[in-house]
Amino acid sequence: MRKLVPFIFAFFICFTLHAEFINIGVFASKQINSFDFSVRAGKYALFTESGKIKELDSKATLSIKYVDGFVEVKQNGTLIGKYRKVNLMGVGWYNHFMVKSSNPTGLERRFDDNLKIIAQRNKMQLVNNLDLDNYVAGVVEAEVGRKPPKEYFKLQAIICRTYALANTEKHIVDGYNLCDEVHCQAYHGKTFFNNIVEAAMQTRGAVIVDSDIQLITAAFHSSCGGQTVNSEDVWSKSLYYLRSVKDTFCLKHKDATWQKEIDKKQWKSYLTARLPSTIPERQYMNFSVSDRLKYFPESKLSFEELRGKFRLRSTYFNIQETDSKVLLKGRGFGHGVGLCQIGAMEMAALGYNYSEILHFYYSGVHIIDLSALDFFKDD
Ligand SMILES: [Zn+2]
Ligand SMILES: [Zn+2]
Repeated sequence: MRKLVPFIFAFFICFTLHAEFINIGVFASKQINSFDFSVRAGKYALFTESGKIKELDSKATLSIKYVDGFVEVKQNGTLIGKYRKVNLMGVGWYNHFMVKSSNPTGLERRFDDNLKIIAQRNKMQLVNNLDLDNYVAGVVEAEVGRKPPKEYFKLQAIICRTYALANTEKHIVDGYNLCDEVHCQAYHGKTFFNNIVEAAMQTRGAVIVDSDIQLITAAFHSSCGGQTVNSEDVWSKSLYYLRSVKDTFCLKHKDATWQKEIDKKQWKSYLTARLPSTIPERQYMNFSVSDRLKYFPESKLSFEELRGKFRLRSTYFNIQETDSKVLLKGRGFGHGVGLCQIGAMEMAALGYNYSEILHFYYSGVHIIDLSALDFFKDD
């Protein structure tokens, strides 16, 4: 028996190291004044600044309302109390709950694990405290839906996990780690899609690091159009693992190309103001590229600037003059840096595994377990 104790202790330490939790500000841009909290699975305990108030079984519902700086909690019409802080903590084996707003009406989402409600100066903020991998699964569904091949969900899970852990300080002043919008990563609560839940669990703990064992900036975009972009061509920072690669995997997709017509006068006046006068008009009214370029030849006008100004789908396009317009014929969708999602989905469909796909788009990175990251951080 004595021999067993250290073993159990060691197991417990390992287990707690892996159970990472994260705090997500949910309904971040919406002001929820009142809502119903209902237990959908497991068991919950209500904790406040006055300690534990009560336990809630799987059928229980609480009505929660913001009143003058306090969170008012009622059950079946009876007031339980008014608090500054309310924590609804899952105490069963597998816990999830639903939030249904009554003011404003119509918002309804389900979440895994725990809910904190913080009374702020003029509103209450809902914070979903949950297991990192439950969060990752929710993000994967919100970001890419249910259609991609199963292997693709695994690499998207690793990217979302890497992003989350690299950005845990982003909303510290708001009282949580990340918000639930595209500002951080889209998250609409719990996913019930098995392929995604399994992908998050099968890659549990996996993150991408660079050669200094730092979490990478795991940039991705919809489609590169045949060639991805160096990071410094879009942002000022050059990162060795965000290099331009030739990608034929995305070329056959129906959204691989685009066209846009622009008024000739508008195009001409914008370009003449920014290009050196030595460049003849025919060069920017009729132009074609094979490889991606950062700048218009012999100038400081970047294609990224043109993409922003004319709201183009990408920086990778040819220019053709017509009667009163210029016709832009482009390839790809998005900034073009890092992983090309359409290409990665095609690779997954062709049988490449998540590691091969990540290494194809991110040059010279390593996929490691979080526990190793902690180990090197302490070093
Ligand atoms: Zn955010
Ligand atoms: Zn691509």
